[in-house]
Amino acid sequence: QDDQFKKVISHAKEYGYVFQSSEIYDGLSAVYDYAQNGAELKKNIRDYWWKAMVQMNENIVGIDAAIFMHPTTWKASGHVDAFNDPLIDNKDSKKRYRADVLIEDYCAKIEAKIDKEVAKAAKRFGDAFNKEEFVSTNGRVLGYQEKINTTLSRMAKSLENEDLADVKALIEELGIADPLTGSKNWTDVKQFNLMFGTKLGASAESAMDLYLRPETAQGIFVNFLNVQKTGRMKIPFGIAQTGKAFRNEIVARQFIFRMREFEQMEMQFFIKPGTQQKWYEYWKEARMKWHLSLGMGADNYRFHDHEKLAHYADAASDIEFKFPFGFKELEGIHSRTDFDLKAHEEHSGKKLQYFDHADNSSYTPYVLETSIGLDRMFLAVFSNSLQEEALENGTTRTVLKLPSVLAPVKAAVLPLVKKDGLPEIARKIIEDLKWDFNVIYDEKDAVGRRYRRQDANGTPFCITVDHESLDDKMVTIRHRDTMAQERVNIEDLREIIKQEVDV
Ligand code: ATP
Repeated sequence: QDDQFKKVISHAKEYGYVFQSSEIYDGLSAVYDYAQNGAELKKNIRDYWWKAMVQMNENIVGIDAAIFMHPTTWKASGHVDAFNDPLIDNKDSKKRYRADVLIEDYCAKIEAKIDKEVAKAAKRFGDAFNKEEFVSTNGRVLGYQEKINTTLSRMAKSLENEDLADVKALIEELGIADPLTGSKNWTDVKQFNLMFGTKLGASAESAMDLYLRPETAQGIFVNFLNVQKTGRMKIPFGIAQTGKAFRNEIVARQFIFRMREFEQMEMQFFIKPGTQQKWYEYWKEARMKWHLSLGMGADNYRFHDHEKLAHYADAASDIEFKFPFGFKELEGIHSRTDFDLKAHEEHSGKKLQYFDHADNSSYTPYVLETSIGLDRMFLAVFSNSLQEEALENGTTRTVLKLPSVLAPVKAAVLPLVKKDGLPEIARKIIEDLKWDFNVIYDEKDAVGRRYRRQDANGTPFCITVDHESLDDKMVTIRHRDTMAQERVNIEDLREIIKQEVDV
């Protein structure tokens, strides 16, 4: 698993997807830059989301709110008082960790032991093996499961009651050691606010303390009435937006899974109080369908319904994805009640109510939220697509099987040789296709090497121009995933590519 993750990170760098930020200065921890291919992939994911949420839904509109917001916003949202992580320092190594993550990692290790038992038994029983039956009856597995459950529920309870001494006690009882040094010499657990502070204004006296937004959602809540009125929106309706968010996360080598500057794609759906259960189910299903539409394998997703709920929610579920380091949260679906709008009414003194013409009543709407991290989605797509394939001739090829709709470059046009008029035909094909797709020209190296390069780059099609093309106006089109090649008319290229990359 670790190896696979390392491959993902180095491939992302080698093929111009993701670089460490400020690399020439040795980088900045948990901050990354998207390179020439990465920026395209990220944009394509964002567009794919925007199209599904805004373009396809008559009752959802998109906005682009500012990153800076009035500081009272974060009082109202609860972030000033409650957006904390429990931190613990190791006295020997001086390293800082999230106490809850240390405990979760401990449980993940027990879970790995369960997986091992299952694999062993599957081998022993062969075809007769029934996984469900085994995990619900095997003593050792049940013991592990019990340990995970009691540990996680004690942690959740202690965090909820702000009983940080008990979180520390739990770490000590479990014998959790510093993952880097093995030391068990821990400090007390302390709460640490994740928001980045900054100042607005030039002079010292008039400067105002601000925060960089830790989520995009609040920009939607404060604009709720403006959008509803100017867009003459009728409940139920949604407001979507994508944009940067900032959190001073304590992170350890998680690449773009957990960043300090990241991008969110959020949608707040405003509904009539009492209908939240229906819409919660609706959006859970709709969002899962969106993920599955990319064809990355249903087994790689699962729901994780929350038992412990945040202060603002009456139901919450995560869509988890199987990253190279296991199943982790990719998207959250939250039933937020009227918590946010009511809090903003209270702090601003302005009513944020909806007048329902149907039954002549005014009310503060309830909210159903879908919230996904764009960078995390990028990592899901990228890590799932990167594959090493054994070929019939005994060699292997590295291929990035990105969903075609998301691939940064849709086709590479390759003249077989750099002479005899073949480059000119290739250029002409590019001139023609570039209005519809991102296409590139490549004439360097033998054509087999060029194919491999495009495979590793994630390009779904290679179009090869050869000497016969001069006469028959046909080219060879090669498909990345199957490596199948067909000879087609140059004038049909647009349609062939479109069939595959359009949604
Ligand atoms: P986690 O438990 O992983 O910290 P969260 O529950 O705090 O996530 P939310 O506040 O619900 O996350 O944010 C919604 C989505 O934003 C997450 O599902 C995730 O995809 C993304 N996200 C949150 N924090 C980060 C981060 N530091 N880096 C990248 N993406 C993030």
